[in-house]
Amino acid sequence: MTATRWKPWGSPISEWAGRVNKHSFTNNRRVALVAGGAGFLGSHLCEYLIKRKWRVICIDNLITGSILNIKHLRNYPEFKFINKDITQPLNIPGKVGVIFNLASPASPKDYLALPLETLSAGAIGTRNLLDLALAKQAVFIHTSTSEVYGDPKEHPQKESYWGNVNPVGPRAVYDEAKRYSEALIMSYYHLYKIPVRIARIFNTYGPRMKIDDGRVVPNLIYQALTGGPLTIYGNGLQTRSFCYISDMISGLYKLIRFNDPFPVNLGNPREFTIIEFARLVKKLTRSSSPIKFYPTVPDDPQRRCPDITRAQTLLKWRPKVELEQGLLRTIRWFQEHISL
Ligand code: NAD
Ligand code: UDP
Repeated sequence: MTATRWKPWGSPISEWAGRVNKHSFTNNRRVALVAGGAGFLGSHLCEYLIKRKWRVICIDNLITGSILNIKHLRNYPEFKFINKDITQPLNIPGKVGVIFNLASPASPKDYLALPLETLSAGAIGTRNLLDLALAKQAVFIHTSTSEVYGDPKEHPQKESYWGNVNPVGPRAVYDEAKRYSEALIMSYYHLYKIPVRIARIFNTYGPRMKIDDGRVVPNLIYQALTGGPLTIYGNGLQTRSFCYISDMISGLYKLIRFNDPFPVNLGNPREFTIIEFARLVKKLTRSSSPIKFYPTVPDDPQRRCPDITRAQTLLKWRPKVELEQGLLRTIRWFQEHISL
């Protein structure tokens, strides 16, 4: 396909949106490739797609994911797993209708331990998948992050906010990789007119999070269930908004027919301080663990909450699961899996 000339930036969304190809997902195009499909979000997405009669090609190098997350899917003839790094050349035979890119270390503990792998996944891996989308004429759906807003100066965060990211801080490997991949995706969109979608995902939690992935939800649940102190970094007044996994997956699925290349926030707009969150975990687990304060981590965003007006109006999506309800399901899953 030849590249078209650059169009001026800042055109109204509707002007761009109308030019994107309409994809009809007939049976032979109802094939989804899920990069990062053995991870937390990815495994739930694969499951959701299989239930809706998609054929699913799951690509994952298992750097932070686990084969256990997709074990239950391997007997479905519609499901195929390929153990592969997306930063390596990708040769996928046959038709593919939609490519979901979730392949990147995602928890701060993981991306701080894997800085170069994180940068490469965002840059080289995303480019490989975009080239594949171009070759297959597939819809390309990317999982970006609220981290593109850095430690935000605007609340709640709208998609139009450009962010406050430290490009040489420890989190930069993740934040800048995701910002680079957004720029890359928009370039492919402007040059080749491929249908792209960018989801800026805010903190998502649920069953299959790694118990030791260091994020606040698994850390605090594990500590509460095992009687250890609940670790709070800083004074606990920093905020996050937590979205249950089933809500996030339904939002990602809706993006297939979104027909708009500009980023859209997906997350739950109910904002909690981390100390409030810790108290809730204690209450729901009926734990007597103490709460212990540790030094703040560098560049930790102090306030984070999505403005989901765009998702609500254009995608007709909003989260439905309340934190208490989602946490109880997650706690139950952890109770069943800690002993394993
Ligand atoms: P995860 O670590 O559980 O899943 C990521 C998966 O990608 C893993 O299975 C990992 O092995 C795989 N992977 C990483 N690099 C790869 C590579 N080079 N080639 C092939 N596979 C590779 O993390 P998650 O929480 O499920 O996050 C999934 C995506 O959603 C990530 O891109 C993340 O940035 C984004 N996201 C997640 C959250 C959240 O709260 N969970 C928030 C914002 C954005
Ligand atoms: N956090 C905490 N205790 C923990 C883990 C995390 O106080 O055991 C804090 C962390 O400093 C941050 C918030 O909880 O302010 C969310 O952290 P997480 O790693 O889950 O995700 P982030 O939103 O920072 O990517």
